[in-house]
Amino acid sequence: MLREVHGRGTRLKNVARVAIPVPLHEPFDYRIPDELLSEIVPGVPVLVPFGSTQRYGWVVEITDTSPHPRLRKILSRVPEGAELSSDLLKLLQWTSHYYVAGIGETIESALPKPVRERKIRQVRWVKTIESGDHPPEKGGGAATRKKVLAYLNQSPDPVPMRRLLEDCEVSDSPVKTLHKRGQLEIFDGLPPEFGVPGQKKPDSPPWEVPPPFEPNEEQTVAIEIICKQLDTDSYKTFLLHGVTGSGKTEVYIRSAQHALAKGQGVLVLLPEIALTPQAIERFTERLGPVAVLHSMLSDTERAVHHERLRSGEVQLALGARSAVFAPVQDLGLIIVDECHESSYKQENSPRYHARDVAVMRAHQNGIPCVLGSATPSMESLENARQGRFEKLSLNHRVSQRELATIEVIDRRHEKGAGASHGLLSRRLIDLIRETIDRNEQVLLFLNRRGFARDVQCKQCGFSFRCASCDIPMTYHKAKDLAQCHYCDEKRGIPDRCPQCEFTGFRQRSPGTENIEETLVTLFPNVEIDRLDRDTVTSASRMQRILQKFRDGETRILVGTQMVAKGHDIPGVTLVGVLDADVALGLPDFRSAEKTAQLLCQVAGRAGRGDLPGHVALQTRQPEHYAITCAVRQDLELLLEQETTVRKMLRYPPHGFLARLVFEDEDESRVRQTADEIALVIKAAAREDSQILGPAPAPFEKLRNRYRLHVLLKSTSRDALRELGKIAQTEKARWSSTRITLDIDPQNLQ
Ligand code: ADP
Ligand code: ZN
Repeated sequence: MLREVHGRGTRLKNVARVAIPVPLHEPFDYRIPDELLSEIVPGVPVLVPFGSTQRYGWVVEITDTSPHPRLRKILSRVPEGAELSSDLLKLLQWTSHYYVAGIGETIESALPKPVRERKIRQVRWVKTIESGDHPPEKGGGAATRKKVLAYLNQSPDPVPMRRLLEDCEVSDSPVKTLHKRGQLEIFDGLPPEFGVPGQKKPDSPPWEVPPPFEPNEEQTVAIEIICKQLDTDSYKTFLLHGVTGSGKTEVYIRSAQHALAKGQGVLVLLPEIALTPQAIERFTERLGPVAVLHSMLSDTERAVHHERLRSGEVQLALGARSAVFAPVQDLGLIIVDECHESSYKQENSPRYHARDVAVMRAHQNGIPCVLGSATPSMESLENARQGRFEKLSLNHRVSQRELATIEVIDRRHEKGAGASHGLLSRRLIDLIRETIDRNEQVLLFLNRRGFARDVQCKQCGFSFRCASCDIPMTYHKAKDLAQCHYCDEKRGIPDRCPQCEFTGFRQRSPGTENIEETLVTLFPNVEIDRLDRDTVTSASRMQRILQKFRDGETRILVGTQMVAKGHDIPGVTLVGVLDADVALGLPDFRSAEKTAQLLCQVAGRAGRGDLPGHVALQTRQPEHYAITCAVRQDLELLLEQETTVRKMLRYPPHGFLARLVFEDEDESRVRQTADEIALVIKAAAREDSQILGPAPAPFEKLRNRYRLHVLLKSTSRDALRELGKIAQTEKARWSSTRITLDIDPQNLQ
């Protein structure tokens, strides 16, 4: 029993502070009934009365007093519940405090839904029964039954019923019929054998698979340093800065092997988009069973993986952002690949950055953390410069492969023979032709999808803009529709201008759809494909497009940033960046950094096989330092350039930043609210803080809401949090204006 000697005598520790998933910062106090006193400890899930209903929550603290005079009682402890270990609870508490988010919300975002709701054992699973003869299919419904069986045959593991029905687009009646005929099995609960779609089970235990190659000198040094750190059982963060194709994955794998061999768990984070079956396989074939956590899985599948980690059955977790909270047992090592990726930042509450949470988790657990990237953020590079992170460098590509040569094509002065076609310069067209003639492959990158970003009347300049978002709508030729890329609003383009009745429109800012069409006319006999959010409607579509390219069937692939990341396609020897300047004009202090990173990443796709690569970079600002640094693939140089500006303006990494966004359907109300709150926080701000705004956000109107923002800069993180909290408490008095606080914002739109 929890008793404590306290001042005047013994006092029962029978008050539980319970985090409930509602957007309120503080946990709620409840009394622990006597019969539950021994079971209720921090981290256990409980059922509590809440208003007139009941809610699930997690006990975060046990104490003996509460400022509230009349406490309600905890109803029960959730049986076989998803208990939070003490280290995970501590991490979640830190996250909630640091990002000024409700503790209940924060815990909720760390757990898959069925785990939260204890529904995991109620799911129905379906698997095929391997038995010989079945009557030949005929009669009504034969086609749908065949479809179901074909689907199940593709997947060696049981599939949740819901997923099966969704993917096959059928009702449950063919499944039931097949069940009756004994051709498949339907059961409830945790499936005994379970893998991830596309994940092959290793044929033999991983330790028996011989490594495909020996690490080179640079890799060996990095591996040895990390393994030595693992043996000291203490915290350190490494920044593994390795150029594209330098073999960072091998460093991760060997370090992970070392930790696993010590009986410790390993957590590997990858950006969502990089979590492809190939990437998963690269880890599993050398490291064995893995729990994969990403959004393409159903909630139930994620819950199963969660369960496997929590029970200690699997010690390796591979996942995207939210996997930073995965319940890996005896965690010994955290790896964050592509640590510069902005998708590690969650864009709704809790607005955490998984890279930073990973570093904090490693710190709290006293274990090493490896952050890997070819293009680390300015923050990470500065941390390394100041000695907070230890830098490990891989300066060369593996197997003596050279980094691609980069050629800058200045679009202000066309060179070369023939004609240019919009975004395709003469020189680039020549390069594409030469590459195709040599039977090699081309990757073209343009960070703009659709046919044209803007459609304007040739006479009066009228532009089709989204009524709810006030941004130009993108014309999609295949659908013959203009579409808003923020709210998905669609409209047809009329024959006549709605403003002046003129009958001619000009299309500006061509996108990937347009480029593909131009390429088809320029290279009629060449297989061309496109990878962007319009052609990628599902994960399997994306795999198919990439596989065709990998197989060499597709000769030219054009795409948005989806093509920029991580793909390793040896046949690509020419990478064309159609418009290197797209992001440079954005009102964001990181625009140069983002541009240089993206260009280095795209350039890294060239020449990954035996043949040397060439990158053609089209720009109108060849002198811009973001472009020159990218051409030299030198992020340290970029850091030098950026340091001056950011120091002067106190932007990260030379100051801390927070952002308040005000949104309201009523334009004058949002203005008034923002003005008043800015006044309050300006009055509260100390000398170490600076408050900018309110100013219209770069996207002034989105989804029918007018938007203003305030930037808070400070030399103290605590000061920022305090100011942010003031804004949020002031907000209560103000009616419907939505106010969001973003600590360490990545997105300033
Ligand atoms: P990065 O992530 O640094 O861009 P990868 O880890 O994807 O690079 O490695 C690129 C390729 O080089 C992979 O196909 C990998 O199998 C291979 N590779 C890695 N290390 C070596 C090595 N020491 N010798 C030969 N090939 C290697
Ligand atoms: Zn819109």
